[in-house]
Amino acid sequence: QLHNTLEDIRGAIRVVVRVRPTLPGEDSTNALRPDAHLTVAEDRLTVHLNQHEARGFDFYRVLGEESTQEDTFAEVEPLVQSTVDGYNLCIISYGQTGSGKTFTIIGAPGKADGVVPRAIRSLFHMLDKLSRGTGHVAVISVALVELYLDKLTDLIPADRQSHAPLAIRQGRDGQPRVQGLGWHTVTTADEAIEMLMAGLSHRHTAQTAMNETSSRSHTVFTVKVRTRNMHSSTTTESRLTFADLAGSERVAKSHSAGDRLREAQSINTSLSALGDVVTALCAKRSHIPYRNSKLTMLLQPSLGGNSKTVLFANVSGVPQHVSETQSTLSFASKVK
Ligand code: ADP
Ligand code: MG
Repeated sequence: QLHNTLEDIRGAIRVVVRVRPTLPGEDSTNALRPDAHLTVAEDRLTVHLNQHEARGFDFYRVLGEESTQEDTFAEVEPLVQSTVDGYNLCIISYGQTGSGKTFTIIGAPGKADGVVPRAIRSLFHMLDKLSRGTGHVAVISVALVELYLDKLTDLIPADRQSHAPLAIRQGRDGQPRVQGLGWHTVTTADEAIEMLMAGLSHRHTAQTAMNETSSRSHTVFTVKVRTRNMHSSTTTESRLTFADLAGSERVAKSHSAGDRLREAQSINTSLSALGDVVTALCAKRSHIPYRNSKLTMLLQPSLGGNSKTVLFANVSGVPQHVSETQSTLSFASKVK
């Protein structure tokens, strides 16, 4: 029993690097940075940032620029099954603005669905089979929050008028809880996805020098699954949490000042706190510093314990972005 538990923990955090292709209009030549060549090893486990550098970065998986949304979901699909068995699942996308975080997590709905819509469809499909086979009844509810400049906002508020910031407090079970967050029961996958998309259209975005529609906030979408066994009347609860993080780029690069600078500092603080939490979990330390930021408090119920986590480290292979790519890869290799 103990051995099994330890085995589970060992595989609990997986870091998957995804390299996005060069976009139309982007300069893919490396005349200015001849050292800025990114190559993915054939075994899809290692990425080299510089051809001449012998040492590469090793990961659970490296998805090259030819990888499809299907390939990407394939890294996550077996873990969606484990949520039906009572495990929590946390999927995070990390990387600089424009590296493909939102494309990976959300995608282009209907055209190039990302991880969330695929996971939701897969979840509903499995629960459907489970209820027909064994008489389990599942209730699914969803919630969506945005964390911007240390303020939490409900993007699908129960009371449509209310956009007041929400507080996060420690509950009796020791888990932080967002006070007054709207949980919405959904009965189909389409209903859940529509709710997510409608909520996301209310996110904060700002113009930066890097990407006009870059998001300077973190968004966290949670799917709560409560299953009840009709024979034994036992219930299990598990969560699937998806975090589309704000861009990890350093301030100087986007020429920030004023509000943009405050945004950058707040993002920086929360991302390093997340890195510290994941590192502490991987090292199996007894103290996990969840309380150092609202982001890590928000993710606490989904990180650690019996959770499985997939961290997508999104990078662009374009030479112009080499230093951000380098910094994303070092963040990602530090936490695994
Ligand atoms: P981020 O959320 O990290 O700022 P986006 O997901 O918005 O980045 O991606 C930036 C642009 O690159 C978008 O136009 C997106 O459609 C495109 N893109 C990102 N990843 C891919 C990919 N793997 N294949 C094709 N286009 C991509
Ligand atoms: Mg985005």
